[in-house]
Amino acid sequence: MLALLGGNGALIVAMWIRHGGLSTLGSASADLTAAGELTALLGTYAALVQLLLMSRSPVIEQLAGLDRLAHWHRWLGFSCTVLICGHVVLTTTGYALGDGSSVAAEAWTLLTTYPWMLMAAAGTACLLMVAVTSVRIARRRLRYETWHFVHLYAYLAIALSLGHQLAVGNDLSTDPVARIYWIGLYAVVAGCVLAFRVGHPLRLALRHRLRIAQVVPEADGVVSIYVTGRDLEQLRARAGQFFRWRFLAGDGWWKAHPFSLSAAPNAGFLRLTVKAVGDGSGDLQRLVPGTRVVAEGPYGIFTAERRSRAGVLLIAGGVGITPLRALLEELGGRGSVTLLYRASSWDDVLFRAEIDELVRARRGTVHYLVGRRGTAGLPDDPLSARSLRGLAPDVRERDIFLCGPPGLVSSVCASLRELGVPDAQIHHERFALL
Ligand SMILES: Cc1cc2nc3c(=O)[nH]c(=O)nc-3n(C[C@H](O)[C@H](O)[C@H](O)COP(=O)(O)OP(=O)(O)OC[C@H]3O[C@@H](n4cnc5c(N)ncnc54)[C@H](O)[C@@H]3O)c2cc1C
Repeated sequence: MLALLGGNGALIVAMWIRHGGLSTLGSASADLTAAGELTALLGTYAALVQLLLMSRSPVIEQLAGLDRLAHWHRWLGFSCTVLICGHVVLTTTGYALGDGSSVAAEAWTLLTTYPWMLMAAAGTACLLMVAVTSVRIARRRLRYETWHFVHLYAYLAIALSLGHQLAVGNDLSTDPVARIYWIGLYAVVAGCVLAFRVGHPLRLALRHRLRIAQVVPEADGVVSIYVTGRDLEQLRARAGQFFRWRFLAGDGWWKAHPFSLSAAPNAGFLRLTVKAVGDGSGDLQRLVPGTRVVAEGPYGIFTAERRSRAGVLLIAGGVGITPLRALLEELGGRGSVTLLYRASSWDDVLFRAEIDELVRARRGTVHYLVGRRGTAGLPDDPLSARSLRGLAPDVRERDIFLCGPPGLVSSVCASLRELGVPDAQIHHERFALL
């Protein structure tokens, strides 16, 4: 996948060089304009790649993993904004030098006389809005829904800029082959977004006709939702994976929340377990049997397929137990299984009876690390490198499956690296998208 994306990037640079590249005459005006064209091409390409990566194609998510995709998406998003802003500054300055006018006067002329320029300016404004609201400090202050809604303007930004690129860009307005290639890139990305964000969930909804069978309270503010439907085995879901779920009650149809399967999937039901942390997950506590469900997935590479060692160490933080509880069901046979379950109180410990039974059947071991830091009998940091070595002395010989809130996942990964566990043996799922 990386080779394909990199190859297309190289092709775009080659196209720019073929159309003149940097001016051989050494004119500052022409050089600035040409550099502006390159940043426009690469910036737009970065935006298209971003949409492709986040199109929710199960193949792309399987290849890269959600964490890595989210990381690339963020990195590409900021690169694309810098490149497009670079295009605006370089091209306007280049044109101003060529016309002997001020940059402000040139900007006004470009805006008011060039075709599709106002649309492109509106697109750039949308892109800037998306970038600003994605800076961590702003992101933390915004509600998820607000941030997500603003993010959807990125589609508008990319669509609005196409007319401008085809009408004005030196590379695309004069070369029919380059034009067809560029429109092709747009078409592939639009096709993937429509197929995987709209077509795929619709197809699953029509084919499997998912409905809630049962809602079972597990703890205060935590429920398990059992979903049934037709031909569930054909979903090809694995323990450890997650779906994006929409429950068609109230305004639930427009909110898709990711939740892992909390039991290994089977022909009879899919089970997810939801902890109320905000409005969306709070509403799910009150769902009733019979409610229609639309699911997208299965997604994720947090599955037993990643195993390379016989021994397995499962580490759960809080509600991060859900995919590990499902994995526990699928593991067994070869090697030993140890589960470390960190929770702040016994009231927060989920599936206790199920876990004990599964561990017993696999002749495994479970350690419940319960209590706030400083609790008597609990080490100050129960998941520090020292504690982990004490609880699983052969940790370096095991595959580690780790799930929980982002802070816990990062600190346990650091502890495992300190113990010399190779990265290839550490598999993790964070319960938050970057
Ligand atoms: C791969 C994955 C698997 C998960 N599995 C489980 C699970 O098995 N059980 C469980 O209780 N929780 C799980 N979560 C967390 C769960 O998705 C969020 O707690 C839930 O979406 C919060 O929604 P809210 O509206 O109640 O909270 P809000 O208060 O709106 O948001 C709280 C935080 O949850 C995240 N969030 C909110 N809405 C979404 C959304 N639509 N998509 C992605 N993230 C969102 C954001 O980081 C946000 O900052 C999982 C998350 C991920 C990424």
